[in-house]
Amino acid sequence: MKTIESYIFLRKQIPLMIGLSIIPGLGYIFLGWINDVVLPALFWYALTIGVSAAGYRLYKAYHPDRMNTEETKQWYSKISIFFVAIFSLWTVIFVLYATEERGHLNYIAIFTQIGASVVASTLLASDKRLFTVTLLFLLVPLAIYFSLIGEFYGYILSLFTFVLLGVLYYASYSSYRLLETSSYQAAHDHLTGLYNRRYFIRFLEQKVKNLKHTKKFSYMMLIDLDHFKTINDSLGHDVGDKLLQIVSSRLLRHIGEDQLLARLGGDEFVIVSHEFKSREEALNNATTHANTLLNRLKETFIIDQHHLYISASIGVEIIEKNTTSANRLIKEADIAMYEVKAQGRDGVVIFNDELAKRIETHLQIERHLHRALQNREISLVYQPQLNENKKVIGCEVLVRWQNETLGFVGPDKFIPIAEQTGLIVELGNFILEEAFKTFASWRDKGIELEQFSINISVRQLFHGSFVQEVERLTAKYLTSELTAKLIFEITETVLVEDIDRVVDVMKRLSHLNINFSMDDFGTGYSSLSYLREMPVSELKIDQSFVANLGTDSSDQAMIVTILNMAKIFNLKVVAEGVETAEQLSFLHENNCHIFQGYYFSKPLIYDDFESFYKSNIT
Ligand code: C2E
Ligand code: CA
Ligand code: CA
Repeated sequence: MKTIESYIFLRKQIPLMIGLSIIPGLGYIFLGWINDVVLPALFWYALTIGVSAAGYRLYKAYHPDRMNTEETKQWYSKISIFFVAIFSLWTVIFVLYATEERGHLNYIAIFTQIGASVVASTLLASDKRLFTVTLLFLLVPLAIYFSLIGEFYGYILSLFTFVLLGVLYYASYSSYRLLETSSYQAAHDHLTGLYNRRYFIRFLEQKVKNLKHTKKFSYMMLIDLDHFKTINDSLGHDVGDKLLQIVSSRLLRHIGEDQLLARLGGDEFVIVSHEFKSREEALNNATTHANTLLNRLKETFIIDQHHLYISASIGVEIIEKNTTSANRLIKEADIAMYEVKAQGRDGVVIFNDELAKRIETHLQIERHLHRALQNREISLVYQPQLNENKKVIGCEVLVRWQNETLGFVGPDKFIPIAEQTGLIVELGNFILEEAFKTFASWRDKGIELEQFSINISVRQLFHGSFVQEVERLTAKYLTSELTAKLIFEITETVLVEDIDRVVDVMKRLSHLNINFSMDDFGTGYSSLSYLREMPVSELKIDQSFVANLGTDSSDQAMIVTILNMAKIFNLKVVAEGVETAEQLSFLHENNCHIFQGYYFSKPLIYDDFESFYKSNIT
């Protein structure tokens, strides 16, 4: 495939060549006129003007945005013919004048031919086939002319002409190589030799414009390898690099001539398909193509004696006349690809309306969340935690958001967004401060709790000033006695982050006398070794296990295991999501001592919690 740049470069030479033919051409008519060969000269000039006009039309006809691959190819063949034709016309005037000894026209003819060859070797340097053909068309007749003189000096000149041909060819070829390498390097990825991100973006932009015009359909496929980072980290970058190279060549085998395969960086690849007449055809083709690639990538890779198995997540988006921009396209393919990851990797998702809607809600939440704090839309509720005697011994603080436009938005919707945008830091600090105020005021009102739990998200935990902020707020609102009753709930997802860093922050908070609870325990990456390393004093059995009690025996077994384990490690256990008396009695029988759930109470606003507490002790 020739690059757009090479077409643009060649196109630029057209007006130059027209100028170099028409203007000096006048001189040749003049010479013809004073030497009485004006008629053939005029005829030649008319031809030159005709070919130039055709060239100019071709110059005007190039519209990369509107031409498809086929049209571009045709256009390219036409301009090739134009260049060969216009240079051949110089050979015609050469033949015409070389035989004229009047006014030494033959000298002028010889010079003309040499001059034209130099021009050809310069203007056409970007196109090897073109400059080769043209140089032959220009210089071979000259060499023949010299040899036809039939004298010794003629043969010598003929020989020199071939030498000149060689030199000019060499000069053109060197520039050609230089152009090739520099444009190759600018457009290709160093490691795999595939097209790079830069080239891909340009190509895609072109494609988007193109399809607006042709009203056809293409697809874009974003391929991300699953767990590549693990291979890179555990086996080293050398193995990682080799894997990427083999992946590239496997993918390349399934790429047609007018499709594009590029590496966007890391373990991300992208394919842009050829064009289809209908959306259905594009969709069907995308699905089969993606599945073929998935299967090919699942075949074993053998690298330095390692047998590696990988899979990939593929996001697809259709490109059509309504596609607004390349950027948006990439974003949407990316969303589809992340959807595959979310569904457990190793699969294909085609971007669809539902995903689009989800993104729209996501964006809406993001926009409104920014002003939620200053608009006082955020409040806290408190869910009671009770012991086996049904006495309220603590509570979990849960955040609530009521927005004018969006209505009530649940924390499981907006907390992840707050985390992604970094807003969680400000929001988290607000929650801490409000919660501490509540805790202190309850103590003043005689509400004695043994523990007071607050959810802390990873991003909040990792924020540079988190520990200081906690220190400042506890000093401001709480006594040391109350501080020692605080529990920060962290979810198991922190364990996939940098574990040393997590432990470090936890230990610093422990020095402030803060306790930790492992939230949603049993759902994720729970590992005994982590529990030993981390200053955790409580486990919260995930509500999904509690919910399935009585229906799923493996969940039942899971709960028993967690409770036994907690005993060994000397940890408290809170069962959350307790909704029925049956669940409660099962948990109780198996040595669980703290319960939280709708069976006792939903999360309550400040005043309601007070009433609940008071009715509970009487
Ligand atoms: P979580 O920490 O696991 O919180 C428990 C969730 O279960 C709460 O949902 C609670 O209302 C709900 N729940 C309690 N008892 C029952 C029950 O018996 N049945 C059922 N079906 N559900 C019950 P909520 O308040 O919607 O919170 C959802 C998640 O949002 C929380 O899960 C937590 O991960 C996050 N979250 C809530 N508040 C905060 C916060 O202040 N900060 C942070 N970082 N995350 C929060
Ligand atoms: Ca929690
Ligand atoms: Ca939980």
